[in-house]
Amino acid sequence: MQKLIVGNWKMNGMIADLTTIADIANCAKQYPQIRAGLCLPATILATAISTNPEFMFGGQDCHMNTSGAHTGCVSATMLADIGAKLVIVGHSERRSDQGETDADVKAKAKAALTAELIPIICVGETLGQRDSGDAISVVLGQIDRSLPEEIRHEYKGSSEIVVAYEPIWAIGTGRIPSNNDVAIMHNAIRAQLVEKFGEPGALIAILYGGSMNGENAASLLSIPNVDGGLVGGASLSTAKFEPILSAANI
Ligand code: PEP
Repeated sequence: MQKLIVGNWKMNGMIADLTTIADIANCAKQYPQIRAGLCLPATILATAISTNPEFMFGGQDCHMNTSGAHTGCVSATMLADIGAKLVIVGHSERRSDQGETDADVKAKAKAALTAELIPIICVGETLGQRDSGDAISVVLGQIDRSLPEEIRHEYKGSSEIVVAYEPIWAIGTGRIPSNNDVAIMHNAIRAQLVEKFGEPGALIAILYGGSMNGENAASLLSIPNVDGGLVGGASLSTAKFEPILSAANI
């Protein structure tokens, strides 16, 4: 499967950073074997899309409804309207900061599909859950409850949904699981996706996220069923993001 590398800029990015975004979009052209994208704050997303029409952009969250009385929220339809292709749903920071439940995440993923966006559905365990040996059951439970019941169309040879496995304790900490632990988790997720969706489950990209950087990307991306990466801090500059794109371009 073609590797997918998506940068998550979180609550970072001002008008002045549009030059960095253009630089990353331009740099990604050198790596045609992969799909690359950036999920940006809503404030700069429309401008980034209109000024870099060949690059893939997305939002970092969407509401489950199309429109209406939801002050401060952005719908999947609105993201699609400005030309976004992706949307992250169920990031652990939203699950903890905004109290999003698996049911919310599922509703958001379904709204994304209705708007013809690719939802990147995030799952991952806490350090306590990892230490108590519950990581796999926690993550498979999240998969079971957070993913839509059906997937419909394909997008460029892979599925219209993406799963991102992000161990919460690895996000922004510089700590990552061992390759063996990542392999075991991604294998378990793949088996669950195939059980849930049948053959199309084999086409769903499973991203690893959590402190991916230029030094560890090649090793992480060589693990079976690691189909790409969701990258936070190391996506904020071309200097840090490009080595990851390059490592994926195999
Ligand atoms: C993320 O928040 O999705 C993430 C992977 O962050 P970082 O790469 O900074 O750990």
